[in-house]
Amino acid sequence: MGGTRNRRIVVIGGGVAGLTAAIQLLEQDCDVVLLEKEELLGFHASGRSAALFSETYGNEIVRALSRGSRVDLQAGGFLSFTRGAVHVGFAGEEDRSAVDDLFKRLRVLEPDIIRLSADELTDIVPAIAPEHSCGGVFEPGAMDVDTDKILQTVAARLRKGGGTIVLGAEVLQIESIGAEMRVHTPRSVYRCDAVINASGAWADEIARRAGLSGLGLQPKRRTAFMFDAPGFETRNWPLVVDIGEQFYFKPDAGRLIGSLADATDTVPCDAYPDDIDIATAVYRIEEATRLRVSRPQTPWAGLRTFATDGSPVIGPDPRMPGFFWLAGQGGYGFQVSLIAARIAASMIARASADDLLDPLGVDHAAIAPDRFIQSAVASPENQPAFSQDNVHLLHNRGIAP
Ligand SMILES: Cc1cc2nc3c(=O)[nH]c(=O)nc-3n(C[C@H](O)[C@H](O)[C@H](O)COP(=O)(O)OP(=O)(O)OC[C@H]3O[C@@H](n4cnc5c(N)ncnc54)[C@H](O)[C@@H]3O)c2cc1C
Repeated sequence: MGGTRNRRIVVIGGGVAGLTAAIQLLEQDCDVVLLEKEELLGFHASGRSAALFSETYGNEIVRALSRGSRVDLQAGGFLSFTRGAVHVGFAGEEDRSAVDDLFKRLRVLEPDIIRLSADELTDIVPAIAPEHSCGGVFEPGAMDVDTDKILQTVAARLRKGGGTIVLGAEVLQIESIGAEMRVHTPRSVYRCDAVINASGAWADEIARRAGLSGLGLQPKRRTAFMFDAPGFETRNWPLVVDIGEQFYFKPDAGRLIGSLADATDTVPCDAYPDDIDIATAVYRIEEATRLRVSRPQTPWAGLRTFATDGSPVIGPDPRMPGFFWLAGQGGYGFQVSLIAARIAASMIARASADDLLDPLGVDHAAIAPDRFIQSAVASPENQPAFSQDNVHLLHNRGIAP
């Protein structure tokens, strides 16, 4: 890596997180090498998403980051269609009150939210019979994200701007030697000033390869498939998700994507679809609608990786200068991508991203890795003291506190 530029950065991971961070760093005059273990970019989560942008999805931090990404996503032409999303309640009092509650909650966040009656819902999605539903909550501003376009545009800009992308380069070990970091792959060792861990489901594993403990990031498998809906013109339907998140379907290139909306804990891997998850999704979709899924096609699965508090992890690791996290994007990696990348690049190149975080009302502490590290390295003296009552209770049950 040549030395005429500001800082030499190695980005680990060729998904949306790594690519978007790499381009931002290049634009801050860093010398960037992106290492991806697969032979293709976007091979894991980033190539397997449902491609929706919704500003009401996720916790407060995710929603703020999504709002922050929206302008850039729009400016880049990456939000391709205003699809809308509808949370549907089916017959029964429980669903009705869940729909009403969700409406109240979302309307505070987004004034355009609409409470649909059963008939209004059928007008929008004719496959849901009015006698089977209690209507829904409609979010008109949800958009389709052109995920391929993001990955391809960013990779092309990166290469054209002098960044380096190395495929088939699995990072095996990361060493910190003085002010320099060394990133070992089977064929080369890359010397740099900082490393960005944007390795998705492998983020904790990459930390271990740097000699650090992980942050408790949990990959969760989600299975999806395509199906046809003969007799229905589905192109302009919104994403339809049932109020209990038991399934969803969404138009995609003339067909529908179906999913159980599953979130099964797993280890980092090349995720494969589970037949039972597909069969269950088909059953639930057919039970709830007039759709008949005669043949689920091209099933796939991907990993959505979450921190325990549901917020992304963006920031330097206080245990190893130069080791930087950009992980835990969960089911929102595309919708938060552009602002998350700008925040990460700003922290690395300028040591602060307050000018980006403050307008969003996000405190850096809410996304910093430190929030997990403190508890992970807490010594016995730092453990919260048990009250005497609890000590007696535990003692009586034969448990040593
Ligand atoms: C079914 C499904 C639906 C989704 N729907 C949406 C949606 O509607 N909207 C949305 O915004 N998000 C959605 N997501 C989430 C989104 O896809 C992810 O949050 C995002 O893709 C994560 O990007 P990433 O770059 O962090 O991870 P990845 O795309 O997984 O990239 C990480 C990369 O790191 C590489 N890597 C790992 N270890 C190493 C190593 N040792 N050396 C080198 N490289 C390594 C991996 O090979 C991988 O390519 C969905 C995800 C799934 C699975």
